[in-house]
Amino acid sequence: MVGKQERHVAREWISDGVLEVRRKAPWLLSSYSDDVITVASSDNLNDTAKIDLRYPLADGRSLVEVPTLCRVVREYMFWVRDDRYGRVQDAATHAAMVQHMLHIVHSMTVREIWSFGDLLRSDIDEMATACVGGIEALTESTRRIGEYLAKFSQEKLPPVKVGRTGMSLDRTRIVAECCLPSGAAVLPQTAHILDSAAHMFGIGTKPDEAPEPRHLTAQNVRMYLAVFESLFEMRNAIEGEGLSFKPFKEGASSRAAQLGRETNRTPIASPRLVLALLEGATKYICDESEELLRTVAGQSPCPGMHRQQVSLRRKIQLLACACFVLILAFTARRPSEGLGLLAGCLAGNDEHGWYLHVYISKNLRRMQWIPIPAIVARAVQILIQLSEGAREVTGKEEIFQVLEKHSATLYPLKPTAWLDDLAAEVGVPLHKATTGVESIWKWQSRQLRRFFAVLYFYRYEGPLEVLSHQLRHFNLNLTRAYVTLDPEAAALWHQEEWGYQGHVARAIVAGEKAYSGPMGKRLSSIARRLKDRFRKALHVAPEEKAAESIRTMMARQGLVLTPKKWVLCTCPGTEEGGQRAACRTGAEVGSVLGPDFANAGPTVCPACPWSMRTAANEDTSVEVAQELATAVEGSARLNTVFGEIERANLAKLERFNAVAAA
Ligand code: SF4
Repeated sequence: MVGKQERHVAREWISDGVLEVRRKAPWLLSSYSDDVITVASSDNLNDTAKIDLRYPLADGRSLVEVPTLCRVVREYMFWVRDDRYGRVQDAATHAAMVQHMLHIVHSMTVREIWSFGDLLRSDIDEMATACVGGIEALTESTRRIGEYLAKFSQEKLPPVKVGRTGMSLDRTRIVAECCLPSGAAVLPQTAHILDSAAHMFGIGTKPDEAPEPRHLTAQNVRMYLAVFESLFEMRNAIEGEGLSFKPFKEGASSRAAQLGRETNRTPIASPRLVLALLEGATKYICDESEELLRTVAGQSPCPGMHRQQVSLRRKIQLLACACFVLILAFTARRPSEGLGLLAGCLAGNDEHGWYLHVYISKNLRRMQWIPIPAIVARAVQILIQLSEGAREVTGKEEIFQVLEKHSATLYPLKPTAWLDDLAAEVGVPLHKATTGVESIWKWQSRQLRRFFAVLYFYRYEGPLEVLSHQLRHFNLNLTRAYVTLDPEAAALWHQEEWGYQGHVARAIVAGEKAYSGPMGKRLSSIARRLKDRFRKALHVAPEEKAAESIRTMMARQGLVLTPKKWVLCTCPGTEEGGQRAACRTGAEVGSVLGPDFANAGPTVCPACPWSMRTAANEDTSVEVAQELATAVEGSARLNTVFGEIERANLAKLERFNAVAAA
C-alpha cells in the first residue's frame, strides 16, 4: 500500500480557484465554493435542496474551517451526481447523501481524525458499527452531554432559560457547548438524558423509561457505508485527501446487511443481575407493602412535610415497579400488556393455586389464564389495592394508578420509569463487562419478559433465599408451558436455554465446579480429553474451543437441561431418554418420552445416567438425608409402612452421599 506521505508527494491538489471554474453543472445552482450550496433535481431545476457545509465538528469549529475535510466533502457533493459514481438525479436524495457524510465527518472528529487519508480500516469498522445506532451513536451525543451535565448540580445549574411555564434547561445552548449538531437535543436518547438531568436539578418532571437505542435498517446503514465505498471509487476524481483502500472487502451492502442482522436491539443483563433484581423486588414487596398500603388508604400516620410526601411517593412508585417486575417475569408479557392489566385479572387462592388473566397476542390472540406463584398474586393484589381509590375516581379499571387518600392526590404509577431506581434501592450489584470494567446496568422493561427463563435455568446459582422461599410450592414447569405459547417468548426461552448450555459447558471445561453423577463424570472426562487435544494442536483458546465442542455435543444428543435442587437433569425428551431414566424404571418400551419429574427426587436421580451434580446439589441431598433421619427416629413412624419407605430412602441417600463425599 502506498504510504500517506508518498501519496502527499505523488499528488498535488488543484487549487481552489481552478476547482471553482471547473466544477460547474446545471444542477449546481450555487457557486462550488459557497458554504451553503443549493442543488436542483436534474429534470426540474425548480425542485431544489440546500446543503449547509457549516456543520459543527467535535472541537467546536465548523467544517468549512477545516480545509482537509471540507475539500473532500465538497468533492463528494459534486461527484456523487456523476453517472459513474452515484446516479443521483433528485435534489432531496442528493442533500440526504451529503448529510450522511456530514454525520460521518463529525464522527471522525470525535475520534480526533482530521483527514480521510488518516483513516485506518479499524476506524471505519468502528464507525460502521456505530452507524447502526444512527446519529446518536455516531456523534456519541449521550455520552458527551452526560459528561457535560455531570459538572453541574442543584446549586450550580447548567444553562437554563425562564419561560411562561417556569425555568427549564437551555437545550440549544447545552448542545452548542457540547459542540454537537443543533438537532441533537431532540434525538430520543439525548432528549431523555436532558429530561433526566432537568428532573435531577429540580426543574422538570421524571421522564419515562429511556427509549430503546436506535437500530437502523440494513438499508439505512447502507446509506452511511456507501459514503466510504464511494470515496474509494472516486479516489482518482477527488481533488483532496480521500480514501485509498477498499473499505469493505465484502462490499458496503453485505456489511450493512450483516450489521443489521447481528446487532442486538435490547442489551441483555447477566443472570447474576437478573436474579438480584428478582430477589430484591420480592424482598421489597414483602418488607414494604403492608405499611405503604395502610398509608395510601389513610390508615397510618400520613406524611406532613413536603420532603416526607416526596419520599412516600417514591416508595409507592418503587413498590409498583417491584410488582411490575415480578408480574412480567412470571408471565413473559410485553410491558404494554402488563400495564394494561385490569382489576379483575386475578383468580385463585393459596390452596389451589393462583392464575392471572393476560393477553397472549401472537398465535393465540386472546386472553389466557396463566398459573402464577403466590408472590406474584400478592403483587397483583397490591396493585389492585393501591389503585382502588383511583379507580373509583377515574372510573377506569387499570391497576397502575393510585389515589393518596390523605392528600386526595391522584397520579399514574409508572413502573417503567422506576426500574433503575428500584435496582439501586435493592442493591443490585454492578455490571461487570468482559474487559473487567464495572458500571451501573441500565434496566429496560423490554428485558423483563426474559426473566422467567433466566430464573428457570439459573435459580440454584445465586443466593435467592426470599424468592426461593416464596416459590417452594410452585411448579415452574407449569408456567413455562404457558409463557412459551407466544413464539417471541419461546424464542427468548430458547436463547436463554442455549446460553445456559454454554454456561454449563464452560463451567465443566474450566473445572470451576466438579460435576459428579454419571453424565457429569462423562462430560468432564470428554472435556479433559478435548482440552488436551486442542492444547497439543496449539489452538489459541483451547478452553473456549473445548467448551464450544461440549455444547455442540449436548445439542446434537438433544440433551435438555432441567435444573433441580438436587440434580441437573440432562434427559432428552425422547423415547430413548425415557427408557434410560431412573424416574421411568419399569415403564414399557415405547410408552414414555423423557423424564417423569413426579417420580424423580434426591433418592432417585443420583444413579440415573442423565444426572449431573455439583457440590450444591450434594449439599441438598445431605440436608434431605438429615431431615429423613430425624423423621425416621420419631416414634410416630415406628412400625408403619411409611416409616419403612422412609428408612429405605434414607439408606439409599446415605449410600449416594457417601459415594459423593469419597
Ligand atoms: S431420574 Fe432424575 S436425572 Fe434421571 S431422568 Fe429422571 S429426573 Fe432426570
